[in-house]
Amino acid sequence: MENPPNKTKTVIFKRPSWDEYFLKLAMLVSERATCPRMHCGCVLVRDRQILSTGYNGSVPAQPHCEEAGCKVIDNHCIRTIHAEMNAILQCSSHGVSTHNATAYITNMPCTNCAKALIAAGIIEVVVFSDFHDTLAEEFFGLSNVTLRRLEMPATKINYDLDSYHSAKLK
Ligand SMILES: [Zn+2]
Ligand SMILES: [Zn+2]
Repeated sequence: MENPPNKTKTVIFKRPSWDEYFLKLAMLVSERATCPRMHCGCVLVRDRQILSTGYNGSVPAQPHCEEAGCKVIDNHCIRTIHAEMNAILQCSSHGVSTHNATAYITNMPCTNCAKALIAAGIIEVVVFSDFHDTLAEEFFGLSNVTLRRLEMPATKINYDLDSYHSAKLK
């Protein structure tokens, strides 16, 4: 029997689709969230270009939930600005239009964020998980915003240095 050929590493790598790419980025963005009750990330995209990102965190110059504790009213922590709002506000702060953009969000938006996304000119929302208490779907439907629910993308990032000869750690 022949000796087996030199072991070559089989790289199982599926290039992410655009949807997976932006949803994975939203997941990465959510790592910066500061409310222990909810980590949410949002990426605003138009023509496959990222306009802004946002995660739920405190108002600038105010303490985070992690330091000051959550401020819970009616079973919601109201200390943070939600991810979607922060993404929209980053655009407003930098003078970037959100018109006709798509929002990739880790969670279904709350009702208020859904209304803000509609008013900001967002025409499509892509999520992979739901929010426990929201009328977002109803509001999106009434304003003709397309809502797509996708599978959660792979949580593992395939950063494979070894397989690409031009990329070396040292
Ligand atoms: Zn909180
Ligand atoms: Zn919200």
